[in-house]
Amino acid sequence: MDKIVSLSRRRGFVFQSSEIYGGHGGCWDYGPLGVQLKNNVKQAWWQSIVQERDDVVGVDSSILMNPRVWEASGHVAGFSDPMSDCLKCKMRWRADDFEGKICPSCGGELTEPRQFNLMFKTFMGPMEDTASVAYLRPETAQGIFVNFDNVLNTTRKKLPFGIAQIGKSFRNEITTGNFIFRSREFEQMELEYFVKPGTDDYWHEHWLQARIDWYTSLGMKRENLQLRAHCSDELAHYAKACSDIQYLFPMGWSELEGIANRCDFDLKQHSKHSGKTLEYFDEESKEHITPYVIEPSAGVDRSVLAFLIDAYTEEPDKDDIRAVLKLHPRLAPFKAAVLPLSKKEPLVNMAKEIHASLRKAWMVTYDESQSIGRRYRRQDEIGTPYCITVDFDSLDDNQVTVRERDSMTQERIPISEIKAYLCPRLTGELK
Ligand code: ATP
Repeated sequence: MDKIVSLSRRRGFVFQSSEIYGGHGGCWDYGPLGVQLKNNVKQAWWQSIVQERDDVVGVDSSILMNPRVWEASGHVAGFSDPMSDCLKCKMRWRADDFEGKICPSCGGELTEPRQFNLMFKTFMGPMEDTASVAYLRPETAQGIFVNFDNVLNTTRKKLPFGIAQIGKSFRNEITTGNFIFRSREFEQMELEYFVKPGTDDYWHEHWLQARIDWYTSLGMKRENLQLRAHCSDELAHYAKACSDIQYLFPMGWSELEGIANRCDFDLKQHSKHSGKTLEYFDEESKEHITPYVIEPSAGVDRSVLAFLIDAYTEEPDKDDIRAVLKLHPRLAPFKAAVLPLSKKEPLVNMAKEIHASLRKAWMVTYDESQSIGRRYRRQDEIGTPYCITVDFDSLDDNQVTVRERDSMTQERIPISEIKAYLCPRLTGELK
């Protein structure tokens, strides 16, 4: 983990939030490379969940919602962790962070655990009273459930169908840590997939497999992923089943994504609390039904961290060690780097022309500083899959050398064919 944190800081993937003020606990900023990687992760999720499916549509709901949403969903009453305070050093601990009744920090005595709500509270409007309390959403899912009818009426989707959303969520986590694994402000990629009751077990299995396949299709090693089914005493009272996709993070197997069968709990709760019936009319049976829902709920930041860890490789290179981020080309912040062999004008002009043309299609960087070997190393370390070198021969034969990151093999290709060469390789169709 230390290497990933240091690489992220050094190369501009992730910084501490408000760093010049000493940081802000459990909050992180994505730098120039990090924002690209994160956008690419979100784009790849959206493509597989929405773009390539007939049965899923997207929404983007607001973060601040009517507080009654959180009463109906059970978050006001029950979205809490049991916490104990140390009587000596005043630190607050999550019940699963200590054993016995001893403070893990100073050895002092801990209080009996009390429930601590994880939702951030704020006020809407000029008055700071109970009537104006609002919450920052702790998950994106409820923004989907409350739009169930709007989406159904405007899209005329038939069961099974899903509604997807990507967005920020906030949780006042007591123990943050492990870099961007657990923070107080994070992003989620959530799908609520509505199905006919009775078909829910089938769809739960379907989504477990589909989501594992998504991670591996983007290069994550299968042996670093596992499924963990929740035991009955871990399940929320309304959930019929839930499995986590876990990744082998440096601190051990930990949740990357949760996939739950939430039955009809959410739609029924919102029907009850809002007074608006949230049902589906089944043409076949001519009955109104409340669909069951399967919820694959993934964290953007945890995915970014897992992809970074999985891709980071150190390998011997002559007398040295080469650090390579073997990110799938679809996730790589830059798809290619254009490198003139020397700073001589004709080479630089030609390289800049190539750069200008390629960047219309992809994020492509340009670098003319230092030796070519060092420039290759720099691109390897940030995961750029292709380096395009313009040399003196290029001026005569209109060809460039393309170097592939992982194999370091080089090919000479005509400048006019660079785009066609890169296209299938950047989507992963060709290696
Ligand atoms: P955990 O047990 O790790 O706190 P959870 O079971 O509470 O997670 P869910 O409510 O199922 O998490 O949220 C779905 C996903 O959102 C998680 O699998 C994770 O990827 C992400 N997520 C949840 N909480 C955080 C957080 N504090 N920081 C970063 N990502 C988070």
